[in-house]
Amino acid sequence: MPASDTSRGIAVPDERHRWRCGGCGNLTRFDVVRTATTREFWHLDLAGEPAVEQSETLEGTISSVTCRWCGRSDAIQVVPRPEHDEPSAESSAPSPGTGQGPDS
Ligand SMILES: [Zn+2]
Repeated sequence: MPASDTSRGIAVPDERHRWRCGGCGNLTRFDVVRTATTREFWHLDLAGEPAVEQSETLEGTISSVTCRWCGRSDAIQVVPRPEHDEPSAESSAPSPGTGQGPDS
């Protein structure tokens, strides 16, 4: 098994970032090769048939991201999402009461 190539490692975009292909400008279509370690709860019935009832990803590593449009895997950039370009103002709309009274 070859050692992971960290020189070209792709950062996973968080909630404020996204991928962008520097070759063609694609923002939405990528082929992602990912290795994940998961823990699963297997529930076997009395006949021995297993069913995965719970799955939790413990660790994930992205080995490559390839643009679906132009096929380049060496031009993927992590850029800020547009909605986070400007400082976000918190909007708290007042919620009306439910109209429940204490009367019986
Ligand atoms: Zn592209």
